[in-house]
Amino acid sequence: MPKVSCEECYFRVNLLCALDLGEPCTTFRPAHAELQPPQQLRFVFRQERRTRAAWSFPTAQEQAALHA
Ligand code: SF4
Repeated sequence: MPKVSCEECYFRVNLLCALDLGEPCTTFRPAHAELQPPQQLRFVFRQERRTRAAWSFPTAQEQAALHA
């Protein structure tokens, strides 16, 4: 899984990010991917305990892997 940073993110490169986070968020899109409509976020269904949410959004690293 590639390690990504906000400096590589399309939104930061184009001054479109208003977030002040210490790490890349799930909105991460590689700057080199150009502006194409992002894929619909995929639900990842969990198999373990029911006390947690049954789904989660992909991580920034997983988003980068989609555009690699
Ligand atoms: S990864 Fe998230 S926080 Fe970082 S620049 Fe992109 S949109 Fe902003």
